[in-house]
Amino acid sequence: MRLSLLGEVLKNITRRASTIKYPVARELTVAPGSRGRHYADLTKCTGCSLCAIDCPANAIAMEKLPQPLKHNPRGVFPVVDYGKCVFCYQCVFVCPVKAYVTTEVFEMADYSTDVSRDSSLSTLQSGESP
Ligand code: SF4
Ligand code: SF4
Repeated sequence: MRLSLLGEVLKNITRRASTIKYPVARELTVAPGSRGRHYADLTKCTGCSLCAIDCPANAIAMEKLPQPLKHNPRGVFPVVDYGKCVFCYQCVFVCPVKAYVTTEVFEMADYSTDVSRDSSLSTLQSGESP
C-alpha cells in the first residue's frame, strides 16, 4: 500500500501540472462559441426593450440615448450589468433586429461596476445622422 503510494508520488512529481496559474499565466483559451461579454449595437437597436423585459436575471436597464436616432423613436438603449448577467444569451436570441454583438471575452473581475454602456456607445462613433 505504502509502496504504491510512493510510486504515485514519484510519477506525479515529474508530471506537468494539469492546472494553469491563472491569472499569472494568460494562455487561456475558451471553446469556440463560448458566451462572453455582449452589448447592443446602437446603429441597429430600436429601443424596443424586449431584451430587458425577457432577461431572467433582471440584468438589463434601459437608459436614455445621448443623441436622437431616427430608428430608435423611444430614445433608449439596453445596458447590461455583467455582475448580474448569467450569460444565458436570451437577450441576444430575442432581439428582433439582431442588435447584440457577442464576444468570447470572459475576464470581467473588476473593482468597478462592469456594464455594457461604453461598448454600446462606441458603436455610434461611426456617426449616424440624427
Ligand atoms: S445573457 Fe441572459 S442574463 Fe445576461 S443580460 Fe442577456 S438575458 Fe440577461
Ligand atoms: S431587443 Fe434588440 S432592439 Fe430591442 S432594445 Fe434590446 S437590443 Fe434594442
